[in-house]
Amino acid sequence: MFETIRLSPQAFLLCSHCSRSFDLTNRQSYCQHCEKPLLVKYDLTGFFDKDLLDSDNLTMWRYAAMLPIRDRDHIVSLGEGMTPMLPLRNLGYNHGFDQLWLKDEGQNPTGSFKSRGISMAVSKALELGVTDCIVPTAGNAGGAMSAYCAAAGIRATVIMPKNTPQIFKDECRLFGAELMLVDGLIDQCGKEITRIKAKKDVYDISTMKEPYRLEGKKTMGYEIAEQMDWSLPDVILYPTGGGTGLIGIWKAFQELLDLGWIEGKLPKMIAVQSENCSPVVEAFHKRQSISKNYQGSIASGLAVPRAFGQDLIMKALRESGGFATTVSESEILKGVKEITRTEGVLVSPEGAAVWMALLKLTNAGYIKRDEKIVLLNTGSGYKYFENIVEN
Ligand SMILES: *Cc1c(COP(=O)(O)O)cnc(C)c1O
Ligand SMILES: [Zn+2]
Repeated sequence: MFETIRLSPQAFLLCSHCSRSFDLTNRQSYCQHCEKPLLVKYDLTGFFDKDLLDSDNLTMWRYAAMLPIRDRDHIVSLGEGMTPMLPLRNLGYNHGFDQLWLKDEGQNPTGSFKSRGISMAVSKALELGVTDCIVPTAGNAGGAMSAYCAAAGIRATVIMPKNTPQIFKDECRLFGAELMLVDGLIDQCGKEITRIKAKKDVYDISTMKEPYRLEGKKTMGYEIAEQMDWSLPDVILYPTGGGTGLIGIWKAFQELLDLGWIEGKLPKMIAVQSENCSPVVEAFHKRQSISKNYQGSIASGLAVPRAFGQDLIMKALRESGGFATTVSESEILKGVKEITRTEGVLVSPEGAAVWMALLKLTNAGYIKRDEKIVLLNTGSGYKYFENIVEN
């Protein structure tokens, strides 16, 4: 399946803050000088033709030429990516939207778009000779990492909040990972990892503290462009936790401009969070955090009190002329029911959050009903029954 893919041109890592560069043939995390994320940069000289694209490959690895892998034998794939772009005709009709689309990431292996980032990160870990991976998670990243590590023959440790629905815990154990449960939210899981790393040589693939998950998630941007015939939508709404997907999609669009595969105006990027935990929205509106006592959410992927990549999230929102907004827990639940009943798609609460945010922003006049709109459904609702089904 991967014999024919073209591998990346020269690539290196660049600090997103101080512009120091780093070699990607060694294990790297983030820039130790400024405590900011590293970004993969590609030297695109001479790489301007769409033959780069391996169109027979129906996974995200069709874009391998723009991914930082050196040897195709290291690719750990379970069929992630190339998820459908579903037209939301019924919802659109009911609410007067002309061009409403859902990028359905719930159809990925392990039921979420985390499989993209983790496929990339575990492939790279394998290439770097890593034998032990660890990850803090609000749920989906843990399951994905457990699965890809199982496929790669790498030991996996997952740190998850106690309060996560049982299925997220069960899947990690089924995939053979070691699971540790922690009181609090994902930031507490991160602290636990710092303690473990002091004692043990484990490769930490925390989002944005490891440079490659972003590269996997950026393939959503490539797919949105390709599936829309290389003409981008006007607006993209993204349920934001750590922001990796939002930063990644924006990175993909910059690369596509550099490659000359797209031109013209880029979409407005809109970050959506839960009222229970909205640090990105507060930062965007330059509000003081009202309280640091963030709570969990039925959209557990959104319960991220501190995003390591926050500067890059702000940059994407501002450069795109975008926006950031919240929805309440009850709106999220209402959104799940509405989309499920009218479209036959069992979206995750995170996916429902962006739909409810779209209604709000349209009513406020910020988005127009005739704009071309893409909603990201980042995961499958089937994993959230504990949170979304009333008994
Ligand atoms: C992790 C997760 C998110 C948040 O993703 P980021 O890219 O880190 O912002 C959103 N939805 C789901 C279903 C998730 O699992
Ligand atoms: Zn730096």
